Amino acid sequence: MIIQGATGPWEIVIGLEVHAQVVSQSKLFSGAATVFGAEPNTQVSLVDAAFPGMLPVINRFCVEQAVKTGLGLKAQINHRSVFDRKNYFYADLPAGYQISQYTQPIVGKGEITIDLSDGSSRTIGITRLHLEQDAGKSLHDQHPSLTYVDLNRSGIALMEIVSEPDMRSPEEAGAYLKKLRAILRALGTCDGNMEEGSMRADVNVSVRKPGAEFGTRCEIKNVNSIRYVQQAVEVEARRQIDIIEDGGTIAQETRLYEPASRTTRAMRSKEEAHDYRYFPDPDLLPLELEDGLIERLQAELPELPDEMKARLVASYGLKPYDAGVLVADPEAAAFYETVARGRDPKLAANWVMGDLFGVLNAKGVTIGESPVSAEALGGLLDLLADGTISGRIAKDVFVEMVETGQGAAGIVEAKGLRQVTDTGSIEAAIAGVLQANPDKVTEFRAGKDKLFGFFVGQVMRATQGKANPAAVNEILMRQLKQ
Ligand code: ADP
Ligand code: MG
Repeated sequence: MIIQGATGPWEIVIGLEVHAQVVSQSKLFSGAATVFGAEPNTQVSLVDAAFPGMLPVINRFCVEQAVKTGLGLKAQINHRSVFDRKNYFYADLPAGYQISQYTQPIVGKGEITIDLSDGSSRTIGITRLHLEQDAGKSLHDQHPSLTYVDLNRSGIALMEIVSEPDMRSPEEAGAYLKKLRAILRALGTCDGNMEEGSMRADVNVSVRKPGAEFGTRCEIKNVNSIRYVQQAVEVEARRQIDIIEDGGTIAQETRLYEPASRTTRAMRSKEEAHDYRYFPDPDLLPLELEDGLIERLQAELPELPDEMKARLVASYGLKPYDAGVLVADPEAAAFYETVARGRDPKLAANWVMGDLFGVLNAKGVTIGESPVSAEALGGLLDLLADGTISGRIAKDVFVEMVETGQGAAGIVEAKGLRQVTDTGSIEAAIAGVLQANPDKVTEFRAGKDKLFGFFVGQVMRATQGKANPAAVNEILMRQLKQ
């Protein structure tokens, strides 16, 4: 994307560092539970609270989750990696250091293919993925003058996934996060819930004249929704362009995005940046993956979003963009396939992505909480396909299904909504409408074609929408032309 400044065109350069919480029942180095939203400090082992003398023990499942994620990112898996201590003081970090990986991460270079709204795709490089512990949480809003500390999150496994500075627009940053989230969800290695903080992004932004060297970047910390990431990129790029065009220079610094004012503000400069004094954790041996582990996990990988997208396009004739929307959420894709199997796939796509998604959005629920099951929606489409109901009636039946949770067939029977295809009763309804509107009939016959829609509407009303629309059109035209 090119931005026009006072001095000419500018290009945005973006690199993302994503923290993804690993789906695992216990923590990276302890057996404590990881349930989200539990009572504060009820899921804390002595290791997580950093009692003296406690020893971390690596959680094999978390390691496998990281390897699986690396494979899903088509990345180099390192057979040997090293855990380091990253030293800093914070009230919710009782050990005074975080166990992380630095120079020797578990996963090296990989890539993600992103899908853009114009139908094109681009490859974004992955620099690395490393495993680390999450910190606890400071709660500043529970007491007027005290800060409380909740250590439930302390020690939960995180994957930090670092991209190359390959993105060039807010849209690409959003597409990257969507695809990354879809991959993590398909793999089951992170639930991708940005609202609950289980996936958060640090957004690195710089600007340059097209073709020039990279400019100095600023890092916007901990942005917790895709929309905010896109807004942050936009306002930060604008801020940097204005400074440079005014003759200033960009200071490398860490910033925060404030959605309310749509601005970023400085948090700390490079000079104030931490020196973390990384060194290998003496309590942990280097991590060596056993022979055959990578091959076994590779063989067990589920269908990934890009593969599923290609299959949905090939077997159901979906538009690539629509297929991309479906695979972004594995539950949505499974729902669609249940509806589409054995039915008209395009009609199924319209209903799932149009009517159903509309209801889910309005109710603010996920597809897993949908008031209408895939089987029930399929039942409605069957009634449409065999001509029992018209498309218009189907919309009403769907609304009723959403409200009552009843099946389509039951609603159609109970309310007498079967489509009238018997031409005798349609003819009778048409005769009634023409009789009631003699002047409109005269106008139509004198050439006012537009009135045809009026007659159709009246006939549909007279039949409570149950008349077969094709039959109405045909008979009405015949009668009017007489
Ligand atoms: P650090 O270790 O200080 O975080 P890295 O070199 O690991 O620095 O880079 C962190 C992130 O910043 C990466 O995602 C990378 O792609 C991105 N990045 C690096 N240089 C730039 C730049 N000039 N503009 C935008 N993003 C950049
Ligand atoms: Mg960084």
